[in-house]
Order: sequence, then C-alpha cells, then structure tokens
Amino acid sequence: MREMIPINRPLIGKEEINLVTKVLKSGLLTEKSGGGHYVTQFEQAFAKWVGAKYAVAVSSGTAALHAALMTVGLRAGDEVVVPSFSFVAAVEAVILAGGKPVFADINPDTYCMDPESFEGQISGKTKAVIPVHLYGLAVDMDPILKLAREHDLMVIEDAAQAIGAEYKGKKVGGLGDIACFSFYATKNLTTGEGGMITTNVEEYAETVRAIRNHGEQEEYRTTMLGHNYRMPEVAAAIGFAQLSKLSRFLERRRKNAEALRDGLSGVEELKLPIEPEGHRHSWYVYTLRLRGANAGKRNRLVEELREKRIGATVYYPVPIHLMPYYRERYSYNRRLLPETETAAGQVFSLPVHPKVTGADIDYMAAVLKRILK
Ligand SMILES: *Cc1c(COP(=O)(O)O)cnc(C)c1O
Repeated sequence: MREMIPINRPLIGKEEINLVTKVLKSGLLTEKSGGGHYVTQFEQAFAKWVGAKYAVAVSSGTAALHAALMTVGLRAGDEVVVPSFSFVAAVEAVILAGGKPVFADINPDTYCMDPESFEGQISGKTKAVIPVHLYGLAVDMDPILKLAREHDLMVIEDAAQAIGAEYKGKKVGGLGDIACFSFYATKNLTTGEGGMITTNVEEYAETVRAIRNHGEQEEYRTTMLGHNYRMPEVAAAIGFAQLSKLSRFLERRRKNAEALRDGLSGVEELKLPIEPEGHRHSWYVYTLRLRGANAGKRNRLVEELREKRIGATVYYPVPIHLMPYYRERYSYNRRLLPETETAAGQVFSLPVHPKVTGADIDYMAAVLKRILK
C-alpha cells in the first residue's frame, strides 16, 4: 500500500542529532535562570533571523502567548480581540491571563482577521488584539496597526504558523509589539515542543524573561507573577540546528506550493490560496476551498483523499466560538461570524512540506482532479 503523505513532518538531520548529543554529554540540561548556553545561542540567532531586537525562548507557543499577554498587563475584564478561525491557543491564553476574548471575523480570501470586523469589536475595555498569521500568510497588518494605535491597543502577533512569512518586505515577528512563535513538531521549524517571543522593546523582553522563570529577576526574589516556561537545552539545540536550514526548508515549501498551484489551476471547483501583493507566504500548509455546487462535500472529499494516502487535513472544522467550552462560557450563537463559519465548512489543506516530492505533487493534483470530475 502507498505510504501516506503526511500534512507535515519534522525534518531532523545529523546537525540536530550532533548538537543534542553534545548537550546530553555536557550534563547541563537546563539553566535555572532559563538562559542556558543553547537557549541563548538559539535566541540570538532567532532574533537576527526574524529581524527583531530581542528573542526569548519559552516552552511552547501557548506559553509564549500567555507570557506575552501577562507582559502587556491584562487586567480582569480587559478584552482582547482574536480570530475564531484559528487554533485555540491564543484564546486560552487570553482567559488564563485574566482577559476576555472577543472574536473578529475573517477576510474570506486570506482567512486572516478582517480589519473592519476588528474595528467593530473594539470597545472601551479592549486592551489588545491578536492577529494570527494563518497557514503561513501574514495578516494585512497596516490597517490592524492603524486601528490599534488609534485606540491605544497592544498588538500581539500569533506567528506560530508563519515563521519566514513576510509583509511589505519585513518578516513576521517584528510587525507588532510582541510576536509569538511555536516550535511544535508540525511547524516549519521544530524543537519538538517549544516557543519564542520576539519584540523590539527591551522592557517587554525583560518581563518575558522574568515570567518564564517564576517572576524572578534575581534568584528567590519574585517581583511579578510568573510561571515555569523555560525551554530545555536539548530543545534549544534542536532549534538552533533547524534555524540554519530554515531558508532552504522555506524555499522547498514555496516550490511545492507553486507546483501545486500549476497542477490545480483552472479547476473550477477549487479556490486556490492567494499571496496578495506585498506578502510572502511561508506555506505552512496549502489551503484550498471548495466552491460552487461542491462546497458542501468537503468532508467526503477529505475522506477520499485520505483513502488515497494523501494527508489532507481540515484547519479548522470548528470555529473557536462554537466549541463546546467557549459556546457555553460566553453563550455564543451560530451566524455570529458568517465568514468564519462558512470557511470552516469548506476549507482543507494539503501538504507542501520539504519532504513532499515533485511526484507527490503530481499525484495529489491528479487524484484531486479525478475526484472532483
Ligand atoms: C501551533 C499553534 C499555537 C500553539 O503552539 P504550541 O507550541 O502548540 O503551544 C498557537 N497558535 C497557532 C495559530 C498555532 O498554529
């Protein structure tokens, strides 16, 4: 039987293995303050790669979001505008930091936060906004930043899926006040589990450093509420090795996405992902949308693709505001976010990670066309 083409997979080579072995042999697996040798190396290289002044490594992308929200000083009752068409982590982080999530709808062409909907959700209690660079495409940040500045809101980028994505010539991670990355095993760069915060503001970087280590700036002198969000040295060593290959990984993703676009262009039933003017996609996944008479057949299509050993996956079948916990907690109803709810029923993603070959691309395009015929 054909082997499944997984939606994403980590690319671990001898560089990672060698560095991890070094860490294990050194016996220094973590540093009390959170800033061990490899953590520091990874942070410095990461900040440089992204083009931000500061980078602080943490234990996951969710930890990064939580620490970022703690850093901007959310207070009970503060509202944070987030998309509902995303992974649940940013919303969890808002609640864990004492705030209240308020959902904005998406632009149906980019699947990212719609500035007009964002504006409509701003109230006197709004403290921050979390634009999510979904699927590897940067949010159209200028209108979001303009609104945020007008209303004195903090902008926290959720760049978990978008390392390497660019907006108007700048990489994501330095576009807002603070940015959060994830190094979960499926992401474009992985450490197994891990995360990073980037910022150009020294004070924020210092606060995140303290939060990740129990609110200590000096040992046993806690000055603020913290947590244990330290990244282990083994993870940092993997990340450091991965970073040196990231540009090559991204080029291969781009090549695969372009080949898939060529293979699928002209298929009427499909809306292909776009890369608007001024954007550079980082192709975390290649997300298509069924349209026309076929729009309701998404789940069946994904099943058929999986039977043909194509790891098609739906991100995300259930918008966050309609998940049982959030629906009950805030009594949200259907049709609150029409674009989000429609997209959730029609999108599906195909793999374009660096291990996907030209033959895989041809196969995926051929199978998809055959099913849709
Ligand atoms: C993966 C992801 C996260 C969470 O990252 P973890 O490292 O898994 O905690 C947050 N937001 C988005 C959009 C993600 O894709």
